[in-house]
Amino acid sequence: MQALRVILGPCAAETRQQVLETAQALVGMLGRNFIYRAGAWKPRTTPGKFEGVGLPALSWLQEVRDTLGIPVATEVATAEHMKAAIEAHMDYVWVGARTTTNPFLVQELSDVLRESDYKPRVMVKNPVGQDIDLWQGAIERLIQAGAVRPIAIHRGVAPGTEQLRNQPCWAMPIELKRRMPEVEMVIDPSHMAGCRDMIPTLAQQALDMGYEGLMIESHICPSKALSDADQQLTPAATAELLQGLRIRSNALSSSEDNALRKQSSKLTILRGQIDELDDQLFTLLRQRLQVAEEIGEYKREHGMPVVQESRYQQILQKRAEWARAQGVPEKTVRAIMEAIHEASVERQI
Ligand code: PEP
Ligand code: MN
Repeated sequence: MQALRVILGPCAAETRQQVLETAQALVGMLGRNFIYRAGAWKPRTTPGKFEGVGLPALSWLQEVRDTLGIPVATEVATAEHMKAAIEAHMDYVWVGARTTTNPFLVQELSDVLRESDYKPRVMVKNPVGQDIDLWQGAIERLIQAGAVRPIAIHRGVAPGTEQLRNQPCWAMPIELKRRMPEVEMVIDPSHMAGCRDMIPTLAQQALDMGYEGLMIESHICPSKALSDADQQLTPAATAELLQGLRIRSNALSSSEDNALRKQSSKLTILRGQIDELDDQLFTLLRQRLQVAEEIGEYKREHGMPVVQESRYQQILQKRAEWARAQGVPEKTVRAIMEAIHEASVERQI
């Protein structure tokens, strides 16, 4: 596995002292192998909150880069931000979740990037909702404008749960990597968690999934932070977290080159079993759809409407009980049942 890409720093740049002290503390504990982040302009969901200091933040970030020798990053949400970030020669810029949601803004950012000789490396967070096409579309717009090797950041999706501010939706980075394998994937457990406690678990999950990097919010004094105070870690806690993570080596791809080992490996046997089970599963699905089609004919002949709400409720309830009894996640069973029902209904209309 390549070295982990790590992006650390406060949610927002608040003062010159806060920006410099946080960076110095992180370098003191972790060395220089990370990108330093700080938001100059903060997109707040509700009005009346701290919205960032704007341009001065960029000069503080430049000072960090010049004195500590680490690359720096800030968020851009409008053409003006992008122009300013380019002028300040930010090494990286990121497009936040609320901006990825808006193709007009992404186009504005792309147009500024296209016109500039200096192009910072661009990172694109997933949109607030679970819409992978918007995420891919934003990355494509930026690539068309000349962005080189863009990086995707998964920061979870709204709504969150009782424990998490934004739920991780692992299906999104998995699908984005399938569609755009060349795009590097970084995970942002800070904005997923919304609180300090959950960050280590999420960060470890991200590495266990095999992703290439982490973005973690770190503040010299989190309790005094002007935004995202509950989720920022002190530099010491950040270092402790990173040092405690286990990185899985990707032995798989090297052993996959070796045909002999591939034949005999336990993984190959297990994957064979999975393929066999999938064959059975989808053969049953085909059979089920055929029966649904026959039911559709019956309903047509007898003038019955296709959707029978009470029957559908019954099926969902029965499967939910089955899931609980079998220890299979109810959420998964429900999602599968809904997809099967939708396909059956389509066969009947
Ligand atoms: C941030 O990184 O500080 C931020 C605003 O994140 P997001 O766009 O993921 O909400
Ligand atoms: Mn934040």
